[in-house]
Amino acid sequence: MSGKVKFVHHDKDLSYHFHDSHPFHPIRLQLTLDLLSEVGALPEDAKLSSRQADEKDLLRVHSPDYIKAVQALSMKDPAAEWLARAEQYGLLDEDTPFFAGMHEASSYIVGGTLTAVEAVMSGSATHALHLGGGLHHALIAKAAGFCVYNDAAVAISYIREKYKARVLYIDTDVHHGDGVQWSFYSDPEVCTYSIHETGKYLFPGTGFVNERGEHLGYGYTVNLPLQPYTEDDSWMECFTESIRRVTAYFKPDLILSQHGCDAHAMDPLSHMHCSMRIYNQMPELIHELAHTYCGGKWVAVGGGGYDIWKVVPRAWSLLWLEMSDHPLKKKLQNHPLTPLPDEWIHRWQSQAPVSLPTEWLDDLSRWEAIPRRDEITAKNRETLAAVLQDMP
Ligand SMILES: [Zn+2]
Repeated sequence: MSGKVKFVHHDKDLSYHFHDSHPFHPIRLQLTLDLLSEVGALPEDAKLSSRQADEKDLLRVHSPDYIKAVQALSMKDPAAEWLARAEQYGLLDEDTPFFAGMHEASSYIVGGTLTAVEAVMSGSATHALHLGGGLHHALIAKAAGFCVYNDAAVAISYIREKYKARVLYIDTDVHHGDGVQWSFYSDPEVCTYSIHETGKYLFPGTGFVNERGEHLGYGYTVNLPLQPYTEDDSWMECFTESIRRVTAYFKPDLILSQHGCDAHAMDPLSHMHCSMRIYNQMPELIHELAHTYCGGKWVAVGGGGYDIWKVVPRAWSLLWLEMSDHPLKKKLQNHPLTPLPDEWIHRWQSQAPVSLPTEWLDDLSRWEAIPRRDEITAKNRETLAAVLQDMP
């Protein structure tokens, strides 16, 4: 079903690292790569090395003065005039503090997503994954929410110019995909869809149902803000119904999906109560839609996910197993509690401050029910109905 698939990576992605106690830690990528290698899911011929994005690429989305500021603040000892302006560019706060080498690392992140897009649009691959990407909060002239350059927005702009293809951006991170949304808010050829915890309670505080796009782009922005403590069934019901409708009416030429995995109950930065099940099922549906509407053209990127030991490596590995039609993915349908490889657990357990998981999916029989489940499900259905109501 899938044809050729590419796993895009460059070790420079690992230097996108604010500092050791920052929640956005590159060890997430290493843990995932190692887990996939251990199960034999990363053959050499699937790997593709990223190029670095150049200034022309970055200028598709970001302003020249912002790029200059990022470059200046990437020096070991930034000049005083730039230090004085760091705050204005969003590079002085706790979330997204500037660090030495930031411009180069961020350019490789953007370049990796461009490499994935190029592989798919040129026809050399049907699907491509770049887990280093997904920095969806970066704005035109401001860093935000751990994101310096917006790789997805740059990649979409590149696809529009070079291939004139219609792009459906699907953002399943628990945080609203604001940077990508605003970049294409008035563009009818790019549809941005984001499912997330409502901005009432969570960063970045946007992504409400009434954000629908503007001018010619009206109707091509779709937001599904869900209630805190949403569980698997309600999340999947809202996702499935809305994304099927959006894809059927927009009829994209390519899907670019962002796979933050921070709606998991164990994630420390959100308030959702989902399990690994949604990270097993959402990629299945996106995969199906890519083949139904786009001749298979599907590029996927990473994103948030701050339980770096217990959640991210499993969620992102499940995504690649789906993209590459790996037999293990089929096995998990009947045996969700298939054990993770002992070798992987042993290799990392001594570095982990928590007990590593032992099974691919979560054993929900050990989870306590959420007391307000019915109320939460009903509220989410109201939101879903409001989204579907205005859809052609
Ligand atoms: Zn997030």
